[in-house]
Amino acid sequence: MGSRVSGRIVIKGIVQGVGFRPYVYSQAKLYGIRGSVKNLGSEVSIIAFGSRFEEFLKAVSVGTVLSKIDSVEVFDIDESVKENDYDGFVIEKSGRSGSLTGFIPADVAICDKCVKDIFDKGGRYEGYWATSCVNCGPRYSIIREVPYDRERTTMDEFPMCEGCRGEYESPQSRRHHAQTIACNACGPKLFLLDSDGNDLKSASSIDDAARLLDEGHIVAIKGIGGYHIACIESSAVKLKTALGRTEQALAIMATEDTVADIAVVSAGEHAILNGPEHPIVVLYKKDRDSHREISNLDTIGCMLPYTGLHHLLFSKLKNRILIMTSANAPGNPMITDTEKAVAKLKGCVDYYLAHDRTILNRCDDSVVREGYIIRLSRGYAPKRVNINLGKDCILGTGPELYTTASVYKNGFCCTSPHIGNIKNPQTLEYLEDTVGNLKTLLGADFDVIAHDMHPQFLSTRFARRLSDETGAETVAVQHHRAHIAAAFSKYAAEDAGRNCVGIALDGVGLGDDGTVWGGEIFIGDILNLRRVGHLESVKMPGGDLATVYPERMLYGMLPCEDTANLLLNRGWKDSELAILDKQIERGFNVPLTSSAGRVLDAASALLGICRERTYDGEPAMKLEAAASAGRAEKWESVVTRDGDMSVLSTSALLKNALAAKNAGRNINDIAASVQFNLADGFAEIAVEKALDAGIKDVVLSGGVCINHTIRETIVRKVSDAGLNMIINREYPFGDGCISYGQCVYAGLLRR
Ligand SMILES: [Zn+2]
Ligand SMILES: [Zn+2]
Repeated sequence: MGSRVSGRIVIKGIVQGVGFRPYVYSQAKLYGIRGSVKNLGSEVSIIAFGSRFEEFLKAVSVGTVLSKIDSVEVFDIDESVKENDYDGFVIEKSGRSGSLTGFIPADVAICDKCVKDIFDKGGRYEGYWATSCVNCGPRYSIIREVPYDRERTTMDEFPMCEGCRGEYESPQSRRHHAQTIACNACGPKLFLLDSDGNDLKSASSIDDAARLLDEGHIVAIKGIGGYHIACIESSAVKLKTALGRTEQALAIMATEDTVADIAVVSAGEHAILNGPEHPIVVLYKKDRDSHREISNLDTIGCMLPYTGLHHLLFSKLKNRILIMTSANAPGNPMITDTEKAVAKLKGCVDYYLAHDRTILNRCDDSVVREGYIIRLSRGYAPKRVNINLGKDCILGTGPELYTTASVYKNGFCCTSPHIGNIKNPQTLEYLEDTVGNLKTLLGADFDVIAHDMHPQFLSTRFARRLSDETGAETVAVQHHRAHIAAAFSKYAAEDAGRNCVGIALDGVGLGDDGTVWGGEIFIGDILNLRRVGHLESVKMPGGDLATVYPERMLYGMLPCEDTANLLLNRGWKDSELAILDKQIERGFNVPLTSSAGRVLDAASALLGICRERTYDGEPAMKLEAAASAGRAEKWESVVTRDGDMSVLSTSALLKNALAAKNAGRNINDIAASVQFNLADGFAEIAVEKALDAGIKDVVLSGGVCINHTIRETIVRKVSDAGLNMIINREYPFGDGCISYGQCVYAGLLRR
């Protein structure tokens, strides 16, 4: 076959909002190509004529820095289309005739060139807070429909001025077809408001906001995907008190030099901090006792400025660190709207730095730790993966906590940003809105709706209601099987019968037997995961109350005299203990749980590290912080076997911890030992199951795997046994992966 001199090129993948069309244009000029490029739904179609077609094809197949290309196909050009129809190369108006292949552009942190433009004296963009280009700026948070063009985003409220129009149309410009192009003359504006929402008519809102922050005021700042609440370090206690979150670690924003001063940053973490996503990266502090008022852990969440506004603010601030936390009540969605912010943040926030660009799709900051995504959100989401789960279009509505929603269609699965805890009407509404938006943006028509097995979750009820409305079939997926399905998805999609051993170390999820699971070992293929091991089922006196007060959990696990004495010494009354005893004896409101999270809670309570949980995960996070200063020792693990079911005794583990404590051993060392032995003992069971069954693949998921020691202990044990340790790094260990796992399970079931 000779080389081509013409063709219609169809490129699929992440090709919108990433400067793709301007790039194609520049390559066409370079290789003397005549023709056109056009956005179609979520693919790009190129008509190209020219003797250097092959070179052009090669160049466009590489794409831009931000693009990810799934496929490049070349077709013959329809005979009715002639080279002479084209006078050079043009970017055509978008069409909607193409298939929606699942790409929704994610928000991108401001690029270095735009930062330079902002500080360029006398330049068009000098001091302009919302400067962006083809390579950067908001995307998902402002998009109404695909294809991604200005008229289908909330930027349509800002008609371009002559200067911006000129750059938009100029092939020489970095803002050639930059849909978010805007300047001081035509773009969104900033406003400084007082605590009642009155416009202070500030002539320089950023200077004033910086001054107010430096003075110690709390300022809510409208960003890309929602409102942050910001203050300087010395106002940390004031802010935490106002938020009612006195114990919770807050994230900071700081420039790179400052981050490097206070935390250990590896090369990999440096790249993540500076990547197009600019997430919060959880880093180890250099001095664990520093910045305690921001974080009382050994870690601190850091992010770099990621919009023009942030950069300008930091250029004016005298302080080097800004605490930046999402503006929302715990468990509620991030606030995006100024009116709502003023109403909801009353009494907490002194000033508002607001802007008039509408946030259509809320998007919290993403969180990454040690390269693992903990919260899948801004920049990473909407997350799109290629996977063949069959012909049906599937919705996964997620679990109850840390929910995301996922949609599968025609070979790709798209997962929404972090939605949060669906325990109240506000977050349920957010879930419904998100599903509605995904449906529109992806052109999805659900055949199947997958949901958690728990009948009472609002996400489950939402799935049922949607099914009643649309006639879509529902599939209930057990929580921890969804974890394993998400982690093993790539393998299972290729061979649904492929067996694995799955380890889920997690908070809580409803199990087959009606008890609360959360430390499980499965064996089989994804559709037939049989439970063959678990952490001991222990008593949770008072149900949720035992989660809030982990000492109850401790007593439920270890109801002995030593524990009783420990609690009495801490100020428990005899009468309180007697009630607890009676409750345990009668078994009323005492669910059984095999949750790994609850074991860590109990250990944290035992060691006096955390006696009351004021935020999600607090006892376990504080246990980990203590453990990082200690040295683990190997304890003998107690495993009971019944048929092929193996159970790791966690009460024996706690007994060892209690004995060590009574022997006066160092608390940090005991904390380290609890984590190590829990992981080591459990991994040993998984390895044994895998070796016995001749299965090579061991899969790991669950929120507890965020814990460094627990995860690495398991990884080492599995790898040392010569088995494949499979972790899906594209999704969170925690429940952010569940909606995706639900889609995987349902897809395989229907396929
Ligand atoms: Zn830029
Ligand atoms: Zn302009």
